[in-house]
Amino acid sequence: LTSSPTSSGMHVIFIAAEMAPVAKVGGLGDVITGLGKALQKRGHLVEIILPKYDCMQYGRIQELRALDVVVESYFDGRLFKNKVWVGTVEGLPVYFIEPHHPDKFFWREQFYGEHDDFKRFSFFSRAALELLLQAGKKPDIIHCHDWQTAFVAPLYWDLYAPKGLNSARICFTCHNFEYQGTAQASELASCGLDVQQLNRPDRMQDNSAHDRINPVKGAIVFSNIVTTVSPSYAQEVRTSEGGKGLHSTLNFHSKKFVGILNGIDTDIWNPAIDTFLKVQYNANDLKGKAENKVALRRHLALSFADSKQPLVGCITRLVPQKGVHLIRHAIYRTLELGGQFVLLGSSPVPHIQREFEGIANHFENHDHIRLILKYDESLSHSIYAASDMFIIPSIFEPCGLTQMIAMRYGSIPIARKTGGLNDSVFDFDDDTIPLQFRNGYTFLNPDEQGLNGALDRAYNHYKSNPESWNQLVQKDMSIDWSWDSSALQYEELYAKSVARARAATSRA
Ligand code: ADP
Repeated sequence: LTSSPTSSGMHVIFIAAEMAPVAKVGGLGDVITGLGKALQKRGHLVEIILPKYDCMQYGRIQELRALDVVVESYFDGRLFKNKVWVGTVEGLPVYFIEPHHPDKFFWREQFYGEHDDFKRFSFFSRAALELLLQAGKKPDIIHCHDWQTAFVAPLYWDLYAPKGLNSARICFTCHNFEYQGTAQASELASCGLDVQQLNRPDRMQDNSAHDRINPVKGAIVFSNIVTTVSPSYAQEVRTSEGGKGLHSTLNFHSKKFVGILNGIDTDIWNPAIDTFLKVQYNANDLKGKAENKVALRRHLALSFADSKQPLVGCITRLVPQKGVHLIRHAIYRTLELGGQFVLLGSSPVPHIQREFEGIANHFENHDHIRLILKYDESLSHSIYAASDMFIIPSIFEPCGLTQMIAMRYGSIPIARKTGGLNDSVFDFDDDTIPLQFRNGYTFLNPDEQGLNGALDRAYNHYKSNPESWNQLVQKDMSIDWSWDSSALQYEELYAKSVARARAATSRA
């Protein structure tokens, strides 16, 4: 079943539900590709296992082919065949699992949000381990991500290590503790896990609903390494306010829990070579950025009479976490200040989608406001390039990527001080922070006054001192947001865990 490690590096398997650009819903997809590439660059063999969704961007998969072998995996008391495909995405080898199950788990025209997500992903988690076992792979690290593949941790130790897939340490990264995938305890039996054994307070039992099973809790308990996506968020989730019910579990397992700030894929997010842009540009050529601003304004039929009128951008999933009421407020505040606002976002929450459709219609032919309520990768690049400021008023934010992408494209972030935003955006006016680190505008209180405080200061800076503003833009564009240093931290965690396991085996 194709490649085995050739380098002296580690063999790392990612099992995940998303991967940019072929199957991306949000930041998780970016992380799989960005971290995967950075580890590969450091000499590790990284292989990825994904579901074979019908709605993937197949054009972005190179050399996709079906393997001759069929992997049979257990579910609901019987074996199901899985067709396995292999291809390359952004230079990374990827296995795609296509279950031959009558429920057509990944044939739903969307990635998540199905009534049987628990079934779909517990099936996938088991099939992924079965693939590794049957292929005779001996990975050093199996790295699973978020609740959808959290089942991998208990499945590995309870079922697959005893079957001989026992070379690996398990790493689990939680990209957002809001999504824990809980279900009735009995549902866990479908993938072959022992409900009696696991529905216990020290294992997978949900901390508040005792008849429910919590996959994220299970992965925290059963993994060797547990990470989340920024140091500040790692602190926040260990408190009762921020932990979404898992703070006590995280505190109990604190020795193996750490927050590592995500990076961004600086090949994909690079204004100097970005083919989505009208004009490529870099920190020494801000004329190019200005041309992108004109192009976007034309494209969206916004007024382009005043080149010095600031353009505020926002690209986001419209969910309560992102501070939707503050995003709405920012639109009106920007208008009051005399700026322009472009929002690209879509919502899985019907009443939020409807509310923003109302605002979009209200401003349909407006000179200064445009709301585009869909997912559009190409347009997202144009907005990062065209905007002068970028608003991220999240209520909580595990890491957040848009602030980093915005800075790389010279758009100054205006962000709430929470989670990963607190670790990456530093207020221009904050004298307690060394000048060289100050890169944006921040506010603490998640209310309209808080947001106004930061947005107004940014606006005034832009208007009153263009030269200093341009220096800030140039500085932000030069910040290194690549995965290099974060990948090194993951590598160190992996290596330490592997070394501990080897030391334990040699002592035994
Ligand atoms: P989250 O994972 O919570 O959605 P992140 O900030 O970590 O938030 O990642 C968001 C990613 O998704 C960024 O790459 C952003 O550009 C992209 N994105 C969000 N909404 C859209 C959209 N409507 N169209 C295109 N890209 C989007």
